[in-house]
Amino acid sequence: MAIRNICVFCGSNSGLDPQFSTSTEALGKYLADNDYQLVYGGGNHGLMGKVATSTLDAGGRVIGIIPHFLVERELALKNVTTFIETRTMTERKEKMLHLADAFIVLPGGFGTFEEFLQMLSWSQIDIHQKPIALYNIDGFYDDLVNMLQKSADLGFAPEGNLDLFINGHNLDEIFSQFHEFKHVLPPKYTN
Ligand code: AMP
Repeated sequence: MAIRNICVFCGSNSGLDPQFSTSTEALGKYLADNDYQLVYGGGNHGLMGKVATSTLDAGGRVIGIIPHFLVERELALKNVTTFIETRTMTERKEKMLHLADAFIVLPGGFGTFEEFLQMLSWSQIDIHQKPIALYNIDGFYDDLVNMLQKSADLGFAPEGNLDLFINGHNLDEIFSQFHEFKHVLPPKYTN
């Protein structure tokens, strides 16, 4: 399947390492320059605002999806290409899943982790078959990757499930792996 719509999950804060913002803005420009459409959570705070604004500034297309109750709190960015308000968080996530061809997870907080793990756990039970990349800027996700490896080492996930996500360190690596990605599920239950 052609990859055109990239759903980005990331922090509603920008974090303390300036590299997080620099790499996020570079991602927005990369999406626009390569004719990918951004799908994201619709807010204007933190890295979420930065990825959307940098995509738009570079002439790209952006779909923002946000539940009603977060429109004020997350300063919804309304001058996007397509602005969608949902009733609930669940409806938002389902719409993001439906529209996305692939996911990129930038550094973020608990909300970002939840979104990543939701998409990964949905992949392992075959609800979707789309590639998911951690964009591991400055090693931000090393501990999470180690934790996922530990869950496989200690028998809570088949080793092959670690291939359901990409641990990416730059955009060329992430996008080339997106285009090669094959969703292969080993048997989930090992004992
Ligand atoms: P954070 O990484 O905590 O800054 O959150 C990033 C974004 O994830 C927030 O702007 C929320 O829109 C979204 N989010 C936060 N909590 C959840 C959750 N429990 N489920 C889904 N999305 C969430």
